[in-house]
Amino acid sequence: MSTEGSHPGPPESTPPRRRKAHRGKGQEPAYSEKTHLIHGRNQSDRWDYKHHVVPPLSSSVTFRLDSTDRAARAFVEFGKGHVEGKPPIYIYDRLDEPTRGMLEENLAYAEEGEIGVAFASGMAAITAAILSWARAGDRVLTCPVLYGCTYSLFHNWLPRFGIECEALDLNDEETLSRKLTPQVRIVYFETPINPDLSLIDIGLVRRVVDRANAGRPPQDRIRILVDNTFATPYGQRPLSLGAHVVVESLTKNIGGFGTELGGVVVGPAEIESALLGFRKDFGGVLSTKSAWAFLVYGLPTLPVRYRQQQETAMKVARFLEADPRIDKVRYPGLESFPQKELARRQMVDYEGRFAPGTLLYFCLKDLPGDPHAGQRLIDFIAENSYTMTLAVSLGQVKTLIEHPYSMTHSALTCTGDSAHLVEPGGIRLSLGLEKGEDLIRDLKEALDAILGPPER
Ligand SMILES: *Cc1c(COP(=O)(O)O)cnc(C)c1O
Repeated sequence: MSTEGSHPGPPESTPPRRRKAHRGKGQEPAYSEKTHLIHGRNQSDRWDYKHHVVPPLSSSVTFRLDSTDRAARAFVEFGKGHVEGKPPIYIYDRLDEPTRGMLEENLAYAEEGEIGVAFASGMAAITAAILSWARAGDRVLTCPVLYGCTYSLFHNWLPRFGIECEALDLNDEETLSRKLTPQVRIVYFETPINPDLSLIDIGLVRRVVDRANAGRPPQDRIRILVDNTFATPYGQRPLSLGAHVVVESLTKNIGGFGTELGGVVVGPAEIESALLGFRKDFGGVLSTKSAWAFLVYGLPTLPVRYRQQQETAMKVARFLEADPRIDKVRYPGLESFPQKELARRQMVDYEGRFAPGTLLYFCLKDLPGDPHAGQRLIDFIAENSYTMTLAVSLGQVKTLIEHPYSMTHSALTCTGDSAHLVEPGGIRLSLGLEKGEDLIRDLKEALDAILGPPER
């Protein structure tokens, strides 16, 4: 890992354990992460496929166990952690299986964690990360604005299991410190936050949590869980910045093509057993066919897609910022971004370069007597634009536009205390791989149609 543009490491952290199979043949220094995401391990001890150029797709619900003796060993060993160099004894797809196992190794590597456990969706991964650690009576601290379904999980479901959630400004050291009562077991957040891309300072949260953890026995410690869906491991590694556990949807930028649903939890080896047990019993398991697509198409192309989309995001952000009809543009790469220092510290790619991401957020200037101009702009685009599609989700090869207030964040805006935090006029754009000038052309046409040509 390059230390260029280095950020202060989290206090009390040990460097992530590198799996040796991700090193080059022999023991020469590691190749770049970009190269590793293409080749993974030259040879996985999950499965002997040394004559395949492409890792094979396993599609077997159940596995031959040979003898009751070997079967008994499989059940005893399940969930005890993968031993390097020793092929696991597979039992049944929902417990563990080779194609998904290879993806999990590569995802753990990408996030600089020790282990990864993959789930059927990002939401299944988030649920597992929380319920495999918190119990009835525990509290979760979080931010007021969250991905809509996570917000709903925290407000509609977790309380039924006796887990209460409280939202606060996690960048406010004093308040966070005060709220870390003995019942708190998890601090959960996204950074960048969906949809307006404000950031949470992961290192700051870790410093405060370390103080609260100092007197606690290991089983009572607070864990910091970060949803890294927006930045992806290519653009930010929360574990190296102070998070204990990373969760993310694979459906978005990691998948990249919009064909598969998936999620993953990455963290230290000690969380693996509970996650595998949770997945075994709750059942939200990632299908091998989807795992194979993430392994073969998604991860290997992530760096090149991300960099290209990011370049386009910067171009479009600059265009919008220069347009007098736009009230504000939020993109971490812009000089005007309020947390630009933090962005430069946290959002860094594998080579140490600033990685402001592939999403942007903007609002139109208020027109007197027309509070719905933003929505009308989106509707015009939905009907007339060749390059932009009105749809939820993000991180695909096609540019997607959406209206958070009425769509992805309706769980917040219809109920609850956070409604006022989502702007009715806000527009979220997820940049695809189209040429930037083509997107700008369609945006210009829509702005002219809805707001009239700019006054100069
Ligand atoms: C999409 C998304 C999720 C949920 O992922 P699914 O794969 O759709 O379940 C969670 N967090 C964020 C930030 C997301 O964008």
